[in-house]
Amino acid sequence: MKRQPLDATLSQLEQQHLKRRRTTVDAFVEHGNRVMTMAGGRTLVDFSSNDYLGLAHHPAIAAAMSECAARCGAGSGASHLVTGHGVEHARLEEELAAFTGRERAVLFSTGYMANLGVITALAGRGELVLLDRLSHASLIDGALLSGARFKRYAHADVAAAERALAESSEDAAVVATDGVFSMDGDVAPLRQLARAAKAHRAWLVVDDAHGLGVLGASGRGSLEQFGLSCDDAPVLIGTLGKAFGSFGAFVAGASDLIEFLIQKARPYIYTTALPQPVAAATRKALELVQREPWRRERVLALTARFKKAAGAAAVALADSNTPIQPVVLGSSEAALLAQQELLEAGFWVVAIRPPTVPKGSERLRITLSAAHSEEQVDALVEHLSRIHVRQQAACE
Ligand SMILES: *Cc1c(COP(=O)(O)O)cnc(C)c1O
Repeated sequence: MKRQPLDATLSQLEQQHLKRRRTTVDAFVEHGNRVMTMAGGRTLVDFSSNDYLGLAHHPAIAAAMSECAARCGAGSGASHLVTGHGVEHARLEEELAAFTGRERAVLFSTGYMANLGVITALAGRGELVLLDRLSHASLIDGALLSGARFKRYAHADVAAAERALAESSEDAAVVATDGVFSMDGDVAPLRQLARAAKAHRAWLVVDDAHGLGVLGASGRGSLEQFGLSCDDAPVLIGTLGKAFGSFGAFVAGASDLIEFLIQKARPYIYTTALPQPVAAATRKALELVQREPWRRERVLALTARFKKAAGAAAVALADSNTPIQPVVLGSSEAALLAQQELLEAGFWVVAIRPPTVPKGSERLRITLSAAHSEEQVDALVEHLSRIHVRQQAACE
């Protein structure tokens, strides 16, 4: 793009109902009630964060962070390969390896960077990277950056993935998928994908940003739910800013894979290490994830309650049993209108529009948290059903 005034593009976004807006949040309070206070003082019930276990504002996690900051300072000073790799990072990596049942784990600053790092390290120029059509943007960007040939198969369509693998003259380098799809809440067909990837000697990369801490008998995520081993799914990516309520990400796998990433993943090598207080906060969060299974049980129970009530109120839900519950409205205008109506009723539910979701599938993306109360969930469904009724009336 040549240098030129940008206001034409910006006003076009506005006209197409595609302009994004940031909302400034002042504080969150939780006493069994998940609410957020906006700058200006208005209080809303938040149904848009990925804080599934209600840990993001947990006082013990904040205390672990400030205690570490007092001891180690706020900044890590350099990258992990220079002087930035601290004791808290090392311990957290060991604990994440133990939690996921893998030989080793390595921390990345963000999930976005972990995905760029993994795909660019594992996929060479001209090799095949195969992605689900609804994969997270960071997996797509990793594939683009790698210079690999990159193909997307229809969402959750294992037969299509197998066809693409079979058509490729050489073995694929990487098959990558979200474990739980971030905008749809459904779980990838991981068992079949693992079989297909293994048959074609490809690395299966599972980005379990939304499964970790939530799914599986002990919160170890979608791989635990399907009973898949490190051999089945050799590259596990987890993010720490969602169910763990902290910040950062990690990759867990065999020792040689992790050592290879430390040597080769450029978004790991060429960036300042996470602040140690962030790692200390995550260690406390990991402890709570394991010690308080009621959080996982509660968010899943609230999800079931939401689905049951929404079904009874004829709100059209997607095929998701995770705390991500999309209500597809089909246009950006309708989604923004619904967001506005819910805002007026005291709920913060963000409209999700292209390019985050395909055109025609614009939606409200509702997320449940262990920190919600039953009353908040019921009240949301009641307001949703009114919007739904009005939408139907408008279509007739
Ligand atoms: C949020 C998310 C990421 C990015 O993680 P960050 O730590 O926020 O950068 C990657 N993959 C998926 C599926 C996500 O939902």
